[in-house]
Formats: sequence, C-alpha cells, structure tokens
Amino acid sequence: MKMVFMLNLARWLRALIVASSLVWVAACWAVGAGEASSASAPGQLKIVTAFYPFQFIAERVAAEHAVVQSLTQPGAEPHDVELTPKQVAGISTADLVIYERSFQAAVDEAVAQSGNQEVFDTTTAVPLRPLTEAQREGAHGDEVHGNAGHGGLDPHVWLDPTNMATLSRTVADRLSAIDPAHAADYAANATALESRLDALDEQFATGLASCKRTDFITTHAAFGYLAQKYKLHQIGISGLSPDAEPSPARIADVQAQAREHGITTIFYETLVSPAVAQSIAGDLNLRTDVLDPIEGITAESRGQDYLEVMQANLTALKAANECG
Ligand SMILES: [Zn+2]
Repeated sequence: MKMVFMLNLARWLRALIVASSLVWVAACWAVGAGEASSASAPGQLKIVTAFYPFQFIAERVAAEHAVVQSLTQPGAEPHDVELTPKQVAGISTADLVIYERSFQAAVDEAVAQSGNQEVFDTTTAVPLRPLTEAQREGAHGDEVHGNAGHGGLDPHVWLDPTNMATLSRTVADRLSAIDPAHAADYAANATALESRLDALDEQFATGLASCKRTDFITTHAAFGYLAQKYKLHQIGISGLSPDAEPSPARIADVQAQAREHGITTIFYETLVSPAVAQSIAGDLNLRTDVLDPIEGITAESRGQDYLEVMQANLTALKAANECG
C-alpha cells in the first residue's frame, strides 16, 4: 500500500514538473515572439519600435501611457531582421511606429504596406550621413546587407547622445498629437530624458577631450556619429555589417594601422563573436575589449539600458586611448 502511494507520488511529481516546464517554455516562447508584452490596458497606446534605442526612447517618454514593443528581439542583430506575420500585423494596428528608413529592409517594406499613417521615420528628424571613407574601406562584404544597397548611409545615429535627445523631443510631440490628454506628461518625460542625455554628452566631451590617441579599432564600424561628435577616428575592421568576414588584405591593413597609431585595444561588440578581434589582437599582443553599438540589451550587456551601456563605452574608450 505504502509502495503504491510512493509510486503514485513520484508519478504526480513527474507530471507536475513536466506541466510546469511546459508552462515555462510556453511563457518563454510568448516573450520571444513579443506577445507577452503586447497586451495593452484600456487607454494605453501601443507603440511599435524597430530596435532597441527607439524602444528605450518610447518607454521613457510614454512611460505608463503606452505598451512598447521592439521588432528586433534582444540579442538579435537588427541589421538583417526578419519579421513574423504577427509583427507585420502589429505594425498595421500600432498607435505609433518608430523606425529608421533605409536601415532594415523588412521594416521599411512592412511599414509601406501597412498603410498606417502614424509612423515616425527618425531620418526626418536626424538625417543619415553617408559612410565615411574609413567605413567604406572596411565595407567589404557589405553588399549582402541593406546599408550598401541603400546608398551607403550610416544608420547608427543613436550612438551620438544629442541625436537621441532630438528623437526624444520629436517622439514627445508625436505622442502629444495622438494623445493630447497626456501631452504634459510626454513633454515632462522627454525633458527629463533630454537632461540625462545632455549630461551623458557632457561626460563624453570632457572624458575624451585629452587622450594620448584619437584612433580606435573596432570590428563593427558602428561608431561614425560618436567619432565625429567627439573628434575621434574610427577604424572599422569589417565595415558596417557586424558579421562580415574581413579579407586577409583588410586584416593586414588594420594591423599596419594599429602599429602606426600605437593602438592598445581591439574592440568588438557584444552581439557578435569576438574571434576576429581576438586574432588581430593576439598577433599584435594587444588587449580586446567591448565597444557596444547598443543594438540590443542582453544579459551580456555592460548595463541595464542605453545610458548605462554608453557609460561603459566611455570607460572603455578612455582606457584604450589613455584619456585623462
Ligand atoms: Zn550596426
């Protein structure tokens, strides 16, 4: 009798474990598909953003008045995002879509086909700049990505904090037009965010004002706007597309520049394998470190949000270039 009870208990426990792990798997799947976050309460707006930095702005400016979704899942590469049918449908029904035209072909197409008029193309507020000569040099292999195909524009505007401030103001204006009842909140939230971004800009400007070197080498040439703003010179190994394999000739060229400029550190980004950076650094006896293009926040990120990861980027740049 007792034995039977024990067996039943064991069976029950096993069933319970299986059932609860199924629930867990289902919950993860729902989060991964961006569904768990898509339920907005009555009166809340639904904002769909193309990738993390715009999600960050929308969450800060709209706060409790909106549910914010990102079309690029955390840890995924925004450069070559593909959309699920559910995400495409979400673009049609969103109260506001925030995206950067010419960056993600799948998003451009879905926005165009949605017929949704409440879209904010960030390039209307912060125009994209053509690639610099240095970015073009490293752009080997980029033809498979959208960047080269869209007139050679650099999408990474968010790595200049003053551009983020401009976008925050514009998002507040758009939200106020859509939801005038909360216009005062949107304005106040945008002002608060702008002051954080202005402080960050100030820290970069002073932190990078006197450095032994101004050149830095990074796998993914995402830091053109940052470099121009703070008078640094970016040397990109793989050009604009994060996962392109540099040619042997490009690697030799980068190594020659590293020697010429007395480079101490080869930077790589969190979302992509550090193998290329490590092999270049190893040959020259240099360090490797992370410089994060903030295209997504994951457990690997050196901070919980845009502001914290930018601080980590500043710390890394100061150490590499011996700024003081
Ligand atoms: Zn990028």
